[in-house]
Amino acid sequence: MAASTEGASQAPSAEDLKLYELSQKYTAEAAKRLRPDGLSQFVRLKDAGSERLRTLAEDPWADHAALNAKPLVQDGSKHKFVILGAGFGGLLYAVRLIEAGLASQPSDILLVDAAGGFGGTWWWNRYPGLHCDIESYSYMPLLEKTGYVPKKKYSTGPELRDYANLIADKWSLHDKALFRSSIKAARWDDATQLWTVDATENRGPGEEARELKLHGQYLLVASGILTNPHVPKVTGLEDFAGPLFHTARWDYKVTGGSPVDEKLTGLEGKRVGIIGTGATAIQAVPKIAKYAKELYVFQRTPSSVNWRGQRPTDPEEWKTKIATKQGWQRDRMLNLDSFLTDAPEEENLVADGWTEMPAFSAVIGSPRYGIIEPTPEKIAQHVGRIYKLDLPHTESVRARTERIVQNPETAAKLKAWYPTWCKRPCFSDEYLEAFNQSNVHLVDTDGKGIDSATSGGLVFAGKEYPLDILILSTGYVTPSIGGGSPAVRTGIDIFGRNGRSMDEKWQNHGASTLHGVSSNGFPNLFFAPLSQSAQASNNAFTLDVGTEHIVHVIEKAEARTGGNAIVEVTSEAEEAWALEIMRRAGWFATVMGCTPGYVTSEGEALKVSQDPVEMARKARSSNWSEGMASFLKLLEEYRADGSIKGFEVVSRA
Ligand code: FAD
Ligand code: NDP
Repeated sequence: MAASTEGASQAPSAEDLKLYELSQKYTAEAAKRLRPDGLSQFVRLKDAGSERLRTLAEDPWADHAALNAKPLVQDGSKHKFVILGAGFGGLLYAVRLIEAGLASQPSDILLVDAAGGFGGTWWWNRYPGLHCDIESYSYMPLLEKTGYVPKKKYSTGPELRDYANLIADKWSLHDKALFRSSIKAARWDDATQLWTVDATENRGPGEEARELKLHGQYLLVASGILTNPHVPKVTGLEDFAGPLFHTARWDYKVTGGSPVDEKLTGLEGKRVGIIGTGATAIQAVPKIAKYAKELYVFQRTPSSVNWRGQRPTDPEEWKTKIATKQGWQRDRMLNLDSFLTDAPEEENLVADGWTEMPAFSAVIGSPRYGIIEPTPEKIAQHVGRIYKLDLPHTESVRARTERIVQNPETAAKLKAWYPTWCKRPCFSDEYLEAFNQSNVHLVDTDGKGIDSATSGGLVFAGKEYPLDILILSTGYVTPSIGGGSPAVRTGIDIFGRNGRSMDEKWQNHGASTLHGVSSNGFPNLFFAPLSQSAQASNNAFTLDVGTEHIVHVIEKAEARTGGNAIVEVTSEAEEAWALEIMRRAGWFATVMGCTPGYVTSEGEALKVSQDPVEMARKARSSNWSEGMASFLKLLEEYRADGSIKGFEVVSRA
């Protein structure tokens, strides 16, 4: 999309011309990458035709012996709250329910997760170099309640996983969890007024899997946004003769080292290939580069990589500047968010690369500009303004690339030519530097991707790159698959009242919720918000706000019914909310100039439809455009009188 700037009738300024050229360049780069096969260029590892690829999705970390020694969760067991997912989202639900006095009996809560333990993202991902990209003080949930002091400004994967266990310890959740169990379907039973969840418990090698039906008065979904690793459908991939794995299931038996020991001695003397240069590769590449004899980095689109500034937590700073008063963590989350929503607070508490990106408001909104009217002029003005806001940042990141990477040709190939918000911005003080090592080779495919794989390596532009080990850093199924339906995202069927399918509702009507957390026809079902709510760059903040709101609604409904509620959004309330969301959808026209990636469902979201039904469906799956702080205020005002307007509450029979 060509961005326009205000004052089009006057002679264009030098900056306007530069912006015009830049938007032309962005459009050309995006066009190179747009593919007719969109999302279907990938296959979910666990659905892959080849057994070799399918097995790459298995949990390498589960301690089956220890888990098999735990008492069995009985088929048919009944719980007040069944929570799908035991990552930070699932943990937040559980803690808030306990703290609200809603789950006092041992069997009240059952957390179910396909993983072998707590942590979600931080359970599955254990690749070398893994750390949170949002500073830990804002990212790690419940720091005020646990009293935990993160070791570094950006916590490592192992620390984040340990912290998930610390939360589980503190709120006694270990015996309330069913691990290694994939949920396939959930049905509301009008007769029993309960949710029934179908789960398969994988009990490890040599043990028969158990099929379970679990019942819950409430079903709370926290299935995450990036949980299903996928790979491009590359001819010959499964025939690669050497070790092959996805970064989301790192194979330390091949590489040597461990999640807490980055000495990857198994790579010594080896030619290693890695496909992908997203946020994962940015963290892993420097670690691999230290040990591999040769490292070939196969790039389709370069990431934008800014400075990191990792450092240990200073205990004095923690006491005097960070954890200074009650409510500090929410304040800090808001403070960080203010810089990303182009409404900066006076003091910059976090002061990192994230806080230099007001144009990230393109995808998370801003309280500063109100509703963007959906006229071509207003939209073009809005897009032009944000491109202008983004310019200093993208230029400085490109200049940084040039400064760091010594070979000018390599530096040019590592420069990102898309607006900041199109992909997760990356931060590293080691990634670009790694390309100065003589054993690290960038294979830039100029937006095309690799051609094929052979038993001996990868092929691009007719040249075979011989490899001993191949690492897939090719990302995950997009969270907005299926129009963002919580059912599709979770990979399950959800059937509400009268057997109504959630997918069918989303397909026919588009997203339909109140505040992004619950939908008419699906009583006592709540989900971590994705569409029709506000999003923050800090996903833990989004989860914090979402679970706080959900537990408030449940608390009020339970109080009204003596602890026996059926609570359901009315169709009037969700339609009214959908209208509010649709009115604000113009803001997000900023993604139209994006290079494909999961933000745009691999380019599928960029297809412009003239069909009014399709346009309405798209607009409904949009988000609150005025940023998280404004959304939070709206929720706080909504909650103030405790009436949970828009929900119908009745007692269970
Ligand atoms: P998750 O942590 O993804 O947990 C969801 C759980 O649900 C998973 O364990 C999964 O196994 C389970 N599940 C899903 N479907 C089913 C099913 N059908 N049956 C049974 N179980 C199921 N965000 C940030 O803000 N900052 C970061 O630094 C950051 N780093 C990230 C790094 C990586 C490598 C990835 C992949 C994502 C990162 N994210 C980050 C996004 C991250 O996913 C969230 O921050 C956060 O961890 C999400 O928590 P969650 O509990 O909602 O989801
Ligand atoms: P991404 O989807 O960001 O990256 C996948 C990579 O694979 C892209 O570079 C993609 O190129 C490339 N690719 C796909 N198909 C091909 C092909 N056929 N040939 C060559 N290359 C190909 O996945 P990540 O795992 O890196 O990150 C996913 C998300 O997880 C991040 O965006 C972020 O939200 C989160 N994350 C956060 C981290 C943190 O810092 N804490 C760390 C890791 C992940 P192209 O861009 O052209 O599609």
